[in-house]
Amino acid sequence: MRKLYSAQALLGWDLHAHMPKKAAPFRSQVIAKLATMAFELAVSDELGGFIEELEKNDDLSEIEKRSIRHVARDYRRHKAVPPEFVKEVSEARSSAQSTWTQAKAASDFASFKPYLEKNVELARRYADYLGFEDHPYDALLEDFEPGMTCEQLSGIIEPLKEDLVPFLAKLMESGTHPDPSPLKGSFDLDAQRKLARRSLEIILYDFDAGGLTDVTHPFTTTIGPGDIRVTNRYAEDHLGPGLFAALHEGGHALYNQGFSNDLYALGVAGGASNGIHESQSRMIENQIGRSLPFWQGFQPVLAEYFPQFAQTSPELLHGAANIVAPSLIRVEADEVTYNFHIMLRFELEAGLIDGSIAVADLPTLWNEAMDRYLGVAPPDDGQGVLQDIHWSMGAFGYFPSYMLGNLYAAQMLKALRTALPGLDDQIRKLEFEPLLGWLRENVHQHGGLYLPTELMERITGAPLDGTHFVEYVTTKYSELYKL
Ligand code: ZN
Repeated sequence: MRKLYSAQALLGWDLHAHMPKKAAPFRSQVIAKLATMAFELAVSDELGGFIEELEKNDDLSEIEKRSIRHVARDYRRHKAVPPEFVKEVSEARSSAQSTWTQAKAASDFASFKPYLEKNVELARRYADYLGFEDHPYDALLEDFEPGMTCEQLSGIIEPLKEDLVPFLAKLMESGTHPDPSPLKGSFDLDAQRKLARRSLEIILYDFDAGGLTDVTHPFTTTIGPGDIRVTNRYAEDHLGPGLFAALHEGGHALYNQGFSNDLYALGVAGGASNGIHESQSRMIENQIGRSLPFWQGFQPVLAEYFPQFAQTSPELLHGAANIVAPSLIRVEADEVTYNFHIMLRFELEAGLIDGSIAVADLPTLWNEAMDRYLGVAPPDDGQGVLQDIHWSMGAFGYFPSYMLGNLYAAQMLKALRTALPGLDDQIRKLEFEPLLGWLRENVHQHGGLYLPTELMERITGAPLDGTHFVEYVTTKYSELYKL
């Protein structure tokens, strides 16, 4: 099965990175064929028999037992869904996606509405097939954040909201705002590519087990053991997008490069959850890559590729990398406002799935929530409710992982600082070995062996607690905005 996944991943990477346009129709058929073959194996009675037998075996190691728990869970979830339903979902998604692309470009919610209604109906049926105790959304969350529930999420979000809404207001009222201009200008794309490569080398991404290629939407993909590839894109007028996307994808790639090799054979060579995966990318991109010690070390490196920065102070660059501004678009949001974009999506999704919100009301509810959380008003639905691809793909329950990544990362970083009191000095010297060593030991090597809560307990001695994130952002931005 993992060999089929590997072939699929390689074809998918090529599709985005190199494939000629005219190859698309046949390539889609090849990928669909491999996906069907992999799915047949994933639900085969043979696999079910192995799982049953192994579950009864008491002589297994702790790692083997955990991997069986993981594989069995996936197997039973796959088996719970009838094959005709899987086919119906995949057809609905592909027509919803092409309609969404046009609807977004034309800001035309009405044309997308019937497709979205269909996707919501399918998601509700999917939740019914899988079963749930409390809220149907819990069944959907399980695909992205095993063990997380709607109720737990609300328990995390409510206090976060209480702290962050007034904090954002204070930042905006502050008389001192950092200057965004140092990272703006005109930057040669080839020099940016070299800088991205260098920044990946600095964080100790292993180029002998991967590579860096240009694409339109950056991602990281695992082709197999020893082959974890990063992709990136660059903006000519701003250094931020190319550099921070490289660090973000690099964080994901370090995680996958750190799986111990036996995990592939055991079927658990993946992250503990989407949220834990995001914690690795967001820690490297934001909590390390946008920190002052990093810029103190990185400014001379930047000047090697762009000599105009030879005299620029690290403090100025650090400020420019940390501009807080309520905005319309999630993927462009800063660390302080980002979580609001997720809170509003979570509330709307949970309502769609339990039936308390109708698809027809989404644009209005979206705009009201944007105003409530961020005080901004989308001028059209393309920059509002239609901005993300997720709902067209039927990926309900995915968004919370992005926010959880920020929170997990802040809590891990706190434990990491206790273990490595010299972390800031090391980062200032661009010495990433101790940081990576800690992440390898505590997070990466375990792959998908632990549930997110088990992993957090192991690493930090406590379940997820959003106050670490609040402490992190309020300390950092109070200094930057001189509150
Ligand atoms: Zn990511």
